[in-house]
Amino acid sequence: MAHVISDECVSCGACAAACPVSAISEGDGKYVVDAATCIDCGACEGECPTGAIKTE
Ligand code: SF4
Repeated sequence: MAHVISDECVSCGACAAACPVSAISEGDGKYVVDAATCIDCGACEGECPTGAIKTE
């Protein structure tokens, strides 16, 4: 179960800097989590100003 970023993302990039395994990158209109790289640590969740990061 990787973390996912919803459409509430405003592409601020705060989560990408917080991810210890660099699983987050800028996608088309929002940031995206690479499910294969994410270790589900949850570090990014608290960094998101819009609460866009969820566990799927
Ligand atoms: Fe990166 Fe952890 Fe967020 Fe997964 S849960 S995207 S490993 S910061």
